[in-house]
Amino acid sequence: MPDLIAKEKKVQAALADLAADAAKLNRTVRIMEVGTGHTVAIQRAGIRALLPENVRLISGPGCPICTTPTGYIDGAIALAKRQNVLIATYEDMLRVPGTESSLAHARDDGARVQAVSSAFEAHLLANHNPDQPVIFAAVGFEASAPTTADVLTRARNADLRNLFVLSAHKLIVPAMEHVAADNVNRIDAFLCPGNLSVMTGYRAYEPIVARHRRPCVIAGFDPPQIIEAVARIVAQLADNDARVENVYTAAVGPDGYARAWEMIERVFRVESAEWRGFGTIPNSGLATNDTYKRFDAAQAFGIDLQGTGERPGCRCAYVITGHIDPPECPLFGRACTPEHPVGTCMVSTGGACHAWYKYRG
Ligand code: SF4
Repeated sequence: MPDLIAKEKKVQAALADLAADAAKLNRTVRIMEVGTGHTVAIQRAGIRALLPENVRLISGPGCPICTTPTGYIDGAIALAKRQNVLIATYEDMLRVPGTESSLAHARDDGARVQAVSSAFEAHLLANHNPDQPVIFAAVGFEASAPTTADVLTRARNADLRNLFVLSAHKLIVPAMEHVAADNVNRIDAFLCPGNLSVMTGYRAYEPIVARHRRPCVIAGFDPPQIIEAVARIVAQLADNDARVENVYTAAVGPDGYARAWEMIERVFRVESAEWRGFGTIPNSGLATNDTYKRFDAAQAFGIDLQGTGERPGCRCAYVITGHIDPPECPLFGRACTPEHPVGTCMVSTGGACHAWYKYRG
């Protein structure tokens, strides 16, 4: 109980500071919540309603499924339709709409598509089905890429020949740099995701601050911590300051998780990547390097992953880039719901539209 009271007092103090600092600003400030964990926590806890009117939280590109472009989904569907190929991917990926279909629809039509909870499961499938090519549709940021890298290292060491990867692994910091450099949607500051910051370390954000003078504050997904981080951002903006600050000190250090980066660098190289809504972002994707080239499903099966179209009426690109809030999409809650998603942001539990719909009360 004393802990709860102390926590409540801390939140009240942070909100009071936030209100005082926001009053010093004679404009509306726009803070990008980069991670999906933040988007969900902010919606679930109703944090927007606690903030001063001139402090706006804008959803960002931190949902790996939402930012996967249509061309990737179309390519995975084309692969799934090939005879004797098995596509293994995360459950959420099955319902992501491609141009005309989804992996779930392809499965209903007879394609071999299986939901897995990790790259390790795809590895197991390949081991148990040696005559069948198993393609792991790998989606995720810095936090999930080491697992894919580990699995490919094991597959190479065991000379496993029927496991492939369709990599849509991405890096979040170059995406933030892109937002800051292009002044996408006039973002004033970043609320940096705790989970990915564990991997990157807080120093990873220093170039964004140095080059673009955008405060970067790291928080975990606990609502009091988010409020504390937003208060620190607004304090920096009120002082015309820009620094990296870390509220999530229990988990995030200066330099990230070196062992995991070694795993990534052993298997992948950094290259430009296509992001839904943003287009091509330099140095933001992970593709298998020369040593691991034979695992690349796009090359091995000659699949084109280009294509960035959206379904008619879908405004996901605007949501992902923070140009609109989900309810501003005409399909939100009408034609597009979690049960019947039209766009990718309504599919994943971390998608902005899904979170806004689920906690709309
Ligand atoms: Fe896309 Fe549906 Fe969200 Fe509209 S409501 S932006 S179609 S996910």
